[in-house]
Amino acid sequence: MKEALLYEKLSHKMVHCHLCPHNCVIPDGKTGFCGVRKNAEGILYALTYGKVVSIAIDPIEKKPLNHFYPGASAFSIGTFGCNMRCLHCCNWEISHHSATESGEGLKELSPEAAVRMAQDRQCEVLAWTYNEPSIWFEYVLDTAKLARKAGVLTVMVTSGMINTPALKTLLNYIDAYRLDIKGFTEDFYQRLTGTPVLSYVLENARTAYQAGVHLEIITNIIPNWNDSDEQLNGLSRWIVENLDADIPWHVTRYHPEYKMSEPSTPTTTLERAKAIGHKNGLRHVYIGNVPGHPGQNTVCPGCDKVLIDRLGFGIGENHIVMGSCRFCGYRIGHYRGPDIPIKTHTTPFPEYIL
Ligand SMILES: [Zn+2]
Repeated sequence: MKEALLYEKLSHKMVHCHLCPHNCVIPDGKTGFCGVRKNAEGILYALTYGKVVSIAIDPIEKKPLNHFYPGASAFSIGTFGCNMRCLHCCNWEISHHSATESGEGLKELSPEAAVRMAQDRQCEVLAWTYNEPSIWFEYVLDTAKLARKAGVLTVMVTSGMINTPALKTLLNYIDAYRLDIKGFTEDFYQRLTGTPVLSYVLENARTAYQAGVHLEIITNIIPNWNDSDEQLNGLSRWIVENLDADIPWHVTRYHPEYKMSEPSTPTTTLERAKAIGHKNGLRHVYIGNVPGHPGQNTVCPGCDKVLIDRLGFGIGENHIVMGSCRFCGYRIGHYRGPDIPIKTHTTPFPEYIL
């Protein structure tokens, strides 16, 4: 078993985990809130280190990342555990699952093997996704270091619930941070996730942005929960004022899952959210989870032409060359891509490996 980082030994074989805002004090024999960090005889162990529950090759657009190597293939891995308990979680079977010392239900995948598999499968990007990678800290850190040496790009698909010092360590080695900002009040966070952590999430958005890591923000819009003009105005203004008007904001359609029974988000609500984002100055607001909707295309802020057209998770034409619009030369801010667009992977997506 791998000993965890970022914890402190207390008396009576207790430990204090400093990884995330829960700051769990864990008695001997117990795990923290996340279910994957366990105190055994006064030592904290990372039970899911080198252990995965799913592996797939996804289009980068599925994460979703629209301004980070469009068309790239993302070697995607996830494991058990989460440090939130969202009522609408779509991966609750793995994210609300605790790990055991035996690693039951999990497969071995060392950091070296993960990077090698990504390269063997010709994936430009390696993604920690499906569950919350912040609580996979030691494994993400070791894998990110190896990936960087190997020239494989990395992305964390995250809810941003991690203490800022821990995040800063990861940001030294990762390339993209796809951050979920679920709503814009602490009360909303409390009701939806069980913990009022909006201030931490916003601070982490700022930290990732200031570190120069590629950042895209997603908000899953749930009717009657976070679809008010007030919440949408608040969040989109915050992004413009504290980060950058070029940061992509994805407003995505929610469907009933797990313990949430509100009906699916009407498309008109997402269109209203997109309009509010643009009104507040954001240049790139995307509508997600509505296949075929033109709101998922990248449009040039300079000449209004479609630069990248998307259908589902596939991309068609990409007219961004050397980071600029091919038609009018407008420089697309906060965009990372190869000089010549990547040809969309020919393998049918997603390709499930495990
Ligand atoms: Zn243009």
